[in-house]
This record gives sequence, structure tokens and C-alpha cells, in this order.
Amino acid sequence: MKENIKNFNLDELKEKLKEISEKSFRAEQIFKWLYQEKVNTFNDMTNLSLELRKKLDEKYNIGNFKIIKKLESIDGTKKYLFDVQDEKGNLIESVLMKYHHGYTVCVSSQIGCRMGCKFCASTGIPFARNLETGEIVEQILAIEKDSNIKVSNIVFMGIGEPFDNFENVMNAINILNNPKGLNIGARHISISTSGIVPKIYELADKKIQCTLSVSLHSSNDKTRSEMMPINNLYPIDELMKACKYYIEKTNKRISFEYALAKDNNDNLEDAKQLVKLLRGMLSHVNLIPINKIEDGKYIKSTNENIIKFRDYLNDHGIVATIRRELGSDISAACGQLRKQNLKR
Ligand code: SAH
Repeated sequence: MKENIKNFNLDELKEKLKEISEKSFRAEQIFKWLYQEKVNTFNDMTNLSLELRKKLDEKYNIGNFKIIKKLESIDGTKKYLFDVQDEKGNLIESVLMKYHHGYTVCVSSQIGCRMGCKFCASTGIPFARNLETGEIVEQILAIEKDSNIKVSNIVFMGIGEPFDNFENVMNAINILNNPKGLNIGARHISISTSGIVPKIYELADKKIQCTLSVSLHSSNDKTRSEMMPINNLYPIDELMKACKYYIEKTNKRISFEYALAKDNNDNLEDAKQLVKLLRGMLSHVNLIPINKIEDGKYIKSTNENIIKFRDYLNDHGIVATIRRELGSDISAACGQLRKQNLKR
């Protein structure tokens, strides 16, 4: 199979053009066609010679997805099921959300996930592979084209663990960021991790302006390990050390995700421990009423408990908000994304 041209950032594309004896400014023209004009074929790149268009077509794939299914929620959220057009017919999901400040896309980073979090519907999809750089970028492009909108924010909170596919995610961010690419500011991109500690250090050292979210979900190792097997490898203590390093290096706030499940991590004792853990840290807690998954043992906390939990944190110096759930009626809310077993 030919390589996807959208796997290359601008510098890499310049190199590729050099290899076929083309001037590097052609790379900028191609970038513009791909990410601003959003053309579907090399032949549409009309300021390139016919010969170059043909050369590109022989060597590369332009990486279009096919929309298999599109569901729209009563709140305007749209869930897309894409065929990535590889040899295996793999499918992925992405979600478009409309907020007052603009459009946000929740992108997937892998086909399946290896983290095995017990409360997440992505667990149980057999892990197929990492998404390529171009396939991460294509989710946004395909949605912009189909919905005829400009996306302003990206969250890496779809299927997969972005830090388990670090290089491609970073390269995709480079393309999304590039003013000649999709021109989405790094501050408008957030990456969510289940807590792959070495990558938190790596990201801190890169000094990219994107936002980091850490899925914490519990402030004690026993409960967290039950919910998230990754905690056995990187327990809370090590995770917090990495988070503190990140904050010190970047001077950026970390957003801690905390999915509240009834009688599991939602009582006063949990809130107290959480305050202790985060006290003095540049952080924000995002409380998510947990979404029950099929056969899952975790159920949503009561509204009363959720509010109590939030108030306790706020009263003790920890900024916490309750996340508004979007798209739950189309299974597009947090942790609900799951590749359907659709056969073409
Ligand atoms: N692998 C990454 C990103 C994907 S999930 C991570 O773990 O952070 C995005 C967020 O949704 C994470 O905070 C995840 O823990 C949360 N989540 C997963 N399943 C959920 C569920 N059933 N209810 C609420 N939040 C869930």
C-alpha cells in the first residue's frame, strides 16, 4: 500500500520532495491544498504541474476516510464512524461537539486500547494498531469537510491511549498546529493520558503549549489499581512526581479527570485524600459522572454526591468542576466510544 502523504509534517514533506528533485516550496503548496483547500485528489492541486501531480499519485495515498455512519445527538453532538481505508477495513470513531466557544473534536489515537480500564467501553475492543499521523489528522479534516465547519479545539480523548502512540500523536499535533496546516493553536489541543509516566516527563521537556489531562479517578492505589491496571506499573506516587515535574517545567495547569462511581471513589474520605494529593499543585479537577458500560460494575454517583464532592474540593482550595455530558444518547459520551462490529 502507498504511504499516506498526510503522515508527513511540513519539514518531512520538504525532504520527500527533495528526494524526487522538486523544490521545497512545493511542500507548502501541497500543505495548503491538503489542509486549507482540503482537496480529495492530487489532481485537484491545480498549481502543480500535471507531471508532479502524477508523480505524487504514483507514490502516495491522499488518505481520505469513508464515513460509514453518522449519529447526531439531541444536543448537537455528532459521532462519526470512519472506515480508515486500510487493508483490514478498520473502523474508528470521532466525536464533534459544539460549545459556545466553537467546535471541539474528540479524536481517537489507536484502533483499540491496551490500557484495560475497567470502566471504559474501549476496553474489550481487541487492540489492532496505532493510528498513523495522517489518520489522526484526517479525523478532523473529514469532519470539517462533512459538517462544513472550522474546528477550533481538539481533545485526545477518543479511543486509545495517546501516550502509547506518542510519536504519531506529536507529529499530528505538529501538523494541526502549523499555520500552513490546520492552524489550531497548541493551547487549544489537549491530550489525556491514563498515566504513562515516562511520557509525561517527555512531554514536559518538549515544552509544547498543549494542555495535559491526567485520568486519575482515585487518590488511593488500591482503588485506582482496581479501576486502571496501569496503576500497577505507575502508582499514584510516581504519577504525581511526574505531574509536578510537568507543572514546574511548563508552568501549565494539569487537568485531573475523576469519574465518580457510586460507593467506589465518591465518598468524603476520597475527597479528603484527593485534597491532600493535589494541595498546592497548579491543577483543576474535572469531575465526570461515570457512564455505566455494558456489564460494567461501576455505576454513576448520585447527583447529590457529585455536588457534595465538588463542593468539598472547592471549599478546600481545589478547583473542581462537573463536566457537562454531551452525546450520551448516541453513545458518544466519555468512555462510551466503542468500535461497532460492522462489516462492510
Ligand atoms: N486513554 C486516555 C484517553 C481516553 S479516555 C485516558 O485514559 O485518559 C478520555 C477520558 O474518559 C479519560 O479520562 C477516561 O478515564 C474517561 N472515561 C473512560 N470511560 C469512562 C466512563 N465509562 N465514564 C466516564 N469517563 C470515562
